[in-house]
Formats: sequence, structure tokens, C-alpha cells
Amino acid sequence: MSDSIKTDVVIIGAGPCGLFAVFELGLLDMNCHLVDILDKAGGQCAELYPEKPIYDIPGIPEITGHGLVRQLMEQVRPFEPTFHLNEMVEKLEKIGEPAFRVTTNAGKVFETKVVVIAAGGGSFQPKRPPMPGIEAYEGTSVFYAVRRMEDYRGRRLLIAGGGDSALDWTLNLQPIAERVTLLHRRDHFRAAPDSVKKMHALVAEGKMDLKLGQVTALEGANGRLTGVVARPDKGEPYRIDCDVMLPFFGLTMKLGPVGDWGIRLDGDLIPVDTAAFETSIPGIFAIGDINTYPGKLKLILSGFHEGALMAQKAYHYVFPYKRLVFQYTTSSTSLQKKLGVA
Ligand SMILES: Cc1cc2nc3c(=O)[nH]c(=O)nc-3n(C[C@H](O)[C@H](O)[C@H](O)COP(=O)(O)OP(=O)(O)OC[C@H]3O[C@@H](n4cnc5c(N)ncnc54)[C@H](O)[C@@H]3O)c2cc1C
Repeated sequence: MSDSIKTDVVIIGAGPCGLFAVFELGLLDMNCHLVDILDKAGGQCAELYPEKPIYDIPGIPEITGHGLVRQLMEQVRPFEPTFHLNEMVEKLEKIGEPAFRVTTNAGKVFETKVVVIAAGGGSFQPKRPPMPGIEAYEGTSVFYAVRRMEDYRGRRLLIAGGGDSALDWTLNLQPIAERVTLLHRRDHFRAAPDSVKKMHALVAEGKMDLKLGQVTALEGANGRLTGVVARPDKGEPYRIDCDVMLPFFGLTMKLGPVGDWGIRLDGDLIPVDTAAFETSIPGIFAIGDINTYPGKLKLILSGFHEGALMAQKAYHYVFPYKRLVFQYTTSSTSLQKKLGVA
């Protein structure tokens, strides 16, 4: 597989624990690629509670979910990790002792010595509208994420939902689409007020349409959409012409493909030892909310500790002939050079 990406470590999940693992691995000279289904780093902190304050991060009396992610991104910057966002790791195969091939749903392939599963509560997956026959259009006319804006140039788009994703994509795609229609259940939006204001301004200028109601049926053939039928709370159903539908109804968390990789599971969790947080397969580690062991607490600080110990063992897989010398960042010039502060 000549075009596969060769790396020391692939981290599955760019939540807070996956991010801090980059720091601990980086201090020990291991380079990392991170893959996450979301379009941004930060996992639950970024997706579920960006504005909420966290009070139990050691040494930081109060910080929001978003603030913590920003600080972690700053902390890992010297190690230049590569992020592969909007991609889900689907396959994990053993190809050596240890060495692994990791494949994403976008067809990207990594060859790596170590894998760190930091998949949290599992993969965030889009909520599907409960509509019979929608599967026939998924991937051809119905998309739950925007990977390449250009794919929507000149198309008639129906964007469904009232949150930030629906409003952000409405505003971003309106200039390049032939026509955008935003469909929402009611005239009240959860999205940022500024986005809602901009959307209303575009409607007032006649540059896009806003409709109220819910999609009840899809029309088209062979995976090609020609329109949908929408029903308002009160009144008669009506038709909207469109060739693409982008439903943004939020995300749910599911274990996802992690369950198919041959790793021993305990329910939806991965049992690990507490010396190195390694799974039943040597070279594959699990840190953060996804793992389980006696006394486990699903806290960010637990995942940070797990990342530090994991890195110590991962080092011996990546550099089997090197001795690992324990050092403090306060006093080691060599660590400080890696951090760009000496
Ligand atoms: C409302 C709320 C408040 C909280 N408050 C606190 C608090 O005050 N203090 C505290 O310590 N903890 C708190 N937590 C818990 C904390 O957020 C979690 O412990 C933490 O996010 C776990 O981090 P993680 O990196 O293990 O996983 P996550 O944050 O869940 O990130 C995992 C990432 O992995 C990705 N992923 C999963 N499977 C795949 C795959 N196959 N391919 C690619 N990507 C994948 C997911 O998309 C996700 O982004 C709170 C949680 C919630 C919901």
C-alpha cells in the first residue's frame, strides 16, 4: 500500500484525552495523526458543552469546554500533529508485531506502530430523520456533513434543522448554490442569534427561502432527489424542489466500528490494564471515557493521567532499541527544546 500514511501513532478520537495524548507522546518524540468524525477537535467538550464551565481540571479553577480545547490545541502545537477531521476510522488490522493498518471511511490508510483509541462515548453520528426510504438517497442526494463546499455549487439545496450547523451551512452555501431553502419546524432557532439575523436578511433580500414544517416524503428515483414534501404544524403539505437535502438534526453517540476490531470489550467499553492502559491487543491502547478498569472515573483528568502512562509503554514499541529516561519539563533542556521554550 504505497500511498498509505506512515506514522508512529494513530489516535482515534480528538477529544480532550486524544489531544493531551499528543503532548505526552510528543515529549517522547513520537509523531501522531488524529482522526475524528467531528469537523473540529475537542470531542464532548466542543460538541456537547462548549460554553459550560468545567471546575475540576487540576490547576485551572474554571474553564469552558471550548476554552479547554483551545488551551490543549495550544499545548500540542509544538508537536505538529496532523488532524483528519470529518473522517471515521472504520477498519483496524494488525499487520506486524506490533504494527497496524488503520482505514477511514474516506479511504485514507495509515500504517502505524501504535494505535491509541480515545473514542470517548463512541462515535458521534448524525441523527437520521425518521423517513422511510431515505437510505436510497444517502450519499447521492442526502448528506449529513459537508466535506467539500464545491460539490454543492449550482445545486438546489434543502437544508433542514434549526441549530448552528443548519444555519452555518445555509450562510456558507447560499452564495454558491443555485438556491437554498432552509426548512425548520418552527420560527424559533437554537443557532447563534447573529447567524439567524443574517439568514433572515438573506430571505428579506430574496436570496434564499425559509419554510416552516417537516419533511414527510422524498421524491425522486435512482438515488436522485427531485423534491420533498413538507408538512407545516398547521395547514396543507407542500412541495419543495431540490436536488440535495442536508439534514442537520444533531448528533448521537454510538460505539460504532470500535466493536468490530477484535479487541476484548466489556459491554461498550474497552478493558485495559492500569499500568499502561493497553487493550487485549499489544500496541493498541485505550484512554479516556472509552476504557474501563476497577475504579475508573469518567473524568477528563483521568484521561490525562492515562495518556501519560500510555506514552511510556508506547515508546518501547516505537523505539524498541532505545532506553527511556524519565525527565521533568521544568528541568530538562531537551524537553524544553521540543516545546520550543529553550
Ligand atoms: C454535559 C457534560 C458535562 C461534563 N462535565 C465534565 C466536567 O466538569 N469535568 C470532567 O472531567 N468531565 C466532564 N464531562 C465528561 C468529559 O467531557 C469526558 O470525560 C471527556 O470528554 C472524555 O474525553 P475523551 O477524549 O475520552 O472522549 P470524547 O470527548 O468523547 O471524544 C471522543 C472523540 O472520538 C471520536 N470518535 C469516536 N469513534 C471514532 C471513530 N471510529 N473514528 C473517528 N473518531 C471517533 C468522537 O467523534 C469524539 O470526538 C462532561 C460531559 C458532559 C456530556
